[in-house]
Amino acid sequence: MSVLIFIDQADGHVKKASYEVLSYGAKVAEQLGTTAEGVVLGAVPADQLSALGKYGVKKIHQVANEALNHFDAQVFTKVIAQVAQAAGSNVVIFSNNVDGKAIAPRLAARLKAGLVPGAVTLPQTTNGFTVKKNVFSGKAFANVTINSDIKIISLNPNSYPVVEGSGSAEVVPFSATVDAPKVKIKSVNKASGEVPLSEAEVVVSGGRGLKGPDNWGLIENLAHVLGAATACSRPVADEHWRPHHEHVGQTGLTIAPNLYIAVGISGAIQHLAGVNRSKVIVVINKDPEAPFFKAADYGIVGDAFDVLPKITEAVKKLKGMA
Ligand SMILES: Cc1cc2nc3c(=O)[nH]c(=O)nc-3n(C[C@H](O)[C@H](O)[C@H](O)COP(=O)(O)OP(=O)(O)OC[C@H]3O[C@@H](n4cnc5c(N)ncnc54)[C@H](O)[C@@H]3O)c2cc1C
Repeated sequence: MSVLIFIDQADGHVKKASYEVLSYGAKVAEQLGTTAEGVVLGAVPADQLSALGKYGVKKIHQVANEALNHFDAQVFTKVIAQVAQAAGSNVVIFSNNVDGKAIAPRLAARLKAGLVPGAVTLPQTTNGFTVKKNVFSGKAFANVTINSDIKIISLNPNSYPVVEGSGSAEVVPFSATVDAPKVKIKSVNKASGEVPLSEAEVVVSGGRGLKGPDNWGLIENLAHVLGAATACSRPVADEHWRPHHEHVGQTGLTIAPNLYIAVGISGAIQHLAGVNRSKVIVVINKDPEAPFFKAADYGIVGDAFDVLPKITEAVKKLKGMA
């Protein structure tokens, strides 16, 4: 019996979301009186992995097959299933990020496991196994009891603190059968110099209030001085002012940065569903009645075209960039 935690990596670097999920998994293991183990697929240096022991994981199974350097949900699922079965894991934990959302349901089907996607707190394990999760785009909570032998949880990003202790993890190579992918990646074009939206600590986001794509320099300038990623509301992407991978919300990316600055966005429930777990929300809108102000920690009632250049200049001065 053990708790198995999926360690997400990109280009040989462990993703930030993994620290949180490792801390969470270690606590779940402690609650169950068992140990926390990790699984990582692809080539991540062993010293980087053993250092993850400080988040409470005792052992990390590494499948360092080169074919796993590129994410493929079907291939990853089969490999993780092999590790879970060999390790006798009865709880498997993912981050509810893009990769976790793609793997967790497939793994649940394969292992005949109950799955709760989008957990927001530690499970209650004293009487059964009950997990609290967001429902209705974050408007309510549901407590879901998993009755199957194997239980899978995916944790909403920014729901659990990263807990850093000491210690190192034992890194154990795992030899798995790795299927040839059904989909072949022909090329990967990465935007250079940009902060990836899903990993960003600070996000500056624009809505229809920006009036058109020609005005996006205002959003980009502020994002640049803050070292932030840029995002947008869905109509902005639908109208091709911005690429679709920047669209956040119910039908776009779900993000949970430390700071989300929403500019000229009304705050419809479908938009909030993707950003309402941000630690601090700042809203800039010229309409004092805009619904987004109800979800904001700080609000500026004003015209984006006046406010944005002033904030950008102020941040520049503060950072000595002026
Ligand atoms: C099934 C479904 C799924 C959806 N999924 C998503 C989703 O994932 N993400 C998403 O974003 N939306 C989604 N939507 C759309 C959502 O309901 C809203 O229509 C959308 O979020 C509105 O975008 P917006 O706030 O940019 O535009 P608007 O609603 O047009 O709001 C523009 C805002 O800008 C303000 N403004 C105007 N001029 C200025 C100015 N000069 N300075 C400052 N403020 C100004 C206005 O006061 C207004 O509040 C979905 C809708 C449905 C039905």
